[in-house]
Amino acid sequence: MKSVYMDNNATTSLKKEVLDAMMPYYTDIYGNASSKFYKVGRDAEQALYKMRENVAKYIGAPNVNEIYFTGSGCEADNWAIKGIAFANQKKGNHIITTKIEHHAVLNTCEYLEKHGFDVTYLDVDENGFVTPEQVEAAITDKTILVTIMTANNEIGTIEPIKEIAEVTKKHRVIFHTDAVQAIGHMKIDVKELGVDMLSLSAHKFHGPKGVGMLYIRNGIRIDNLIHGGGQERGRRAATENLAGIAGLSKALEIAVTDLDKNVEHCKKMRDRLIKGIKENIPYSRLNGPENEGRMCNNVNFSFQYVEGESILMMLDMKGVAASSGSACASGSLDPSHVLMAIGLPHEIAHGSLRLSVGEDTTEEDVDYVVEVLPPIIQRLRDMSPLYEGVEK
Ligand SMILES: *Cc1c(COP(=O)(O)O)cnc(C)c1O
Repeated sequence: MKSVYMDNNATTSLKKEVLDAMMPYYTDIYGNASSKFYKVGRDAEQALYKMRENVAKYIGAPNVNEIYFTGSGCEADNWAIKGIAFANQKKGNHIITTKIEHHAVLNTCEYLEKHGFDVTYLDVDENGFVTPEQVEAAITDKTILVTIMTANNEIGTIEPIKEIAEVTKKHRVIFHTDAVQAIGHMKIDVKELGVDMLSLSAHKFHGPKGVGMLYIRNGIRIDNLIHGGGQERGRRAATENLAGIAGLSKALEIAVTDLDKNVEHCKKMRDRLIKGIKENIPYSRLNGPENEGRMCNNVNFSFQYVEGESILMMLDMKGVAASSGSACASGSLDPSHVLMAIGLPHEIAHGSLRLSVGEDTTEEDVDYVVEVLPPIIQRLRDMSPLYEGVEK
């Protein structure tokens, strides 16, 4: 049977070159990077330094010691938010974010609310955009942190990070951005963006799962999230996942080097898919920005009168892997918080489908989805009592 992977916003395939870069750290260079008294330990330490240097270079960080490796994107977000909150609570207890963040950010903010922090969840417009003016209006003399994602994982909206950074700088508030979806899909340079902290995760750009990074600009005061040994300059304990970090470093290098080529390819696949769906399925709605400000690989549609979960099951029977809303949110019956935040009514938010293309996606893949999807939607609509009236 045909197999088409259209869930690159959930995770991506591991590249062969990335795996090759990881393998030596599972075999020959097995030393602990903190063991400096013998060669295999020093080899590990030196390799780690080189990887850190490489990562700093490819995100535009001026200093190697501003790069901190973590166990995931979720950990990087948790650390950024809790670490700043607890280190700065004498200064203030107010945090600003948006209603469409990833749960790694939203649930962390909700946790902090139980511990005496006030959180403002900014509204977004019908395409998922937040403005620098909204951020500025929300800042008070108690604000210690603004955390806003670079690109949304469900509807692909790219937020005006650089402009927001100008506002936070003016008011001397720390600015963190979750750039997990952005890497490999747009240019990311922390200096140019002007952010203080930035999270990324290797498995979203063809690296391994279970390894992330937090960029922390020098001079930022932050508490530890993981306490223990002196790794990561005493800020994040745990023996370094050298193979994972090697994978992250290599995957980032490739993602940045091949950026223009991949963006162009993804855009072509994305637009072919959007066009095919619009032309072949009535009562459909593209969620997120039409073109400008949309991530190059994200497609998200709502189909009236059907359930997202049913679409996924029937697509799976045709060999197509996709998602409705965010993979982390599935298992719950609530419609996606992102689709609710852009103002979709419950019943329309429920019938949503996210198809995220990648550099492996081919025109044949897209055409196959455009061929199998319309009859699926039609079959589900034929079973829906709500649709009956519409047809007549
Ligand atoms: C996937 C994702 C995360 C979480 O990253 P993990 O490495 O899977 O923990 C955080 N934020 C966004 C926007 C994501 O898409």
